[in-house]
Amino acid sequence: MMAQQLNSPPLKRQRSDRDGQEEPDSSEGFRFSQEPTLDQIRAMQNQFSRERNWDQFHTPRNLLLAMTGEVGEVAELFQWRGEVEEGLPDWSEKDKKHLSQELSDVLIYLVRLAEKCHVDLPAAAVDKIKLNKLKYPAHQVYGSSKKYTEYNTPEKNSS
Ligand SMILES: [Mg+2]
Repeated sequence: MMAQQLNSPPLKRQRSDRDGQEEPDSSEGFRFSQEPTLDQIRAMQNQFSRERNWDQFHTPRNLLLAMTGEVGEVAELFQWRGEVEEGLPDWSEKDKKHLSQELSDVLIYLVRLAEKCHVDLPAAAVDKIKLNKLKYPAHQVYGSSKKYTEYNTPEKNSS
C-alpha cells in the first residue's frame, strides 16, 4: 500500500465518483491559491477599515464609486497596448505586479460592497453560474458569442 501511495502522483486531481459530478476545473493551467477565501478577505478588509475608523465612509454608493475608479486603473494598464496574450508574456514584471495590485483593489472593493449590501458573494456567484448555464445551454451556444436574447432559452427575461 505504501508503494502504491508513493507511486501515485500526489497532485493529480481525481474525478469524483461519489456524487457523479464533474470536477469543476479539469484544466492543467493556471489556478488560484486555496486561501484566503472570499470571506477571509472580507474579514481582513473589515478589520483594516475598523482599525482606521473608515467604516463610516464605506457606504454602498461610496464603495461602488471607489471600485469603479479601480476598474479604471486596471483599464489604464491595458490602454494603448493592443491585444495581449494569455499570461501577459510581453509584460514586464513591474507591470504584472502593478496589475496584480490594481485587480486586488477591485476585488477588495467588490467584496466590501457585497458585505455592505449583505450579498453572500460566493453563494451568489455559484447561483449566477447556474443561471448562466440555463441562459446559455452549451449544446446550443457552443462557439458562438451571441447574447442570450438571440437564443430561444427559458431565461430570456433575467439579466
Ligand atoms: Mg488602485
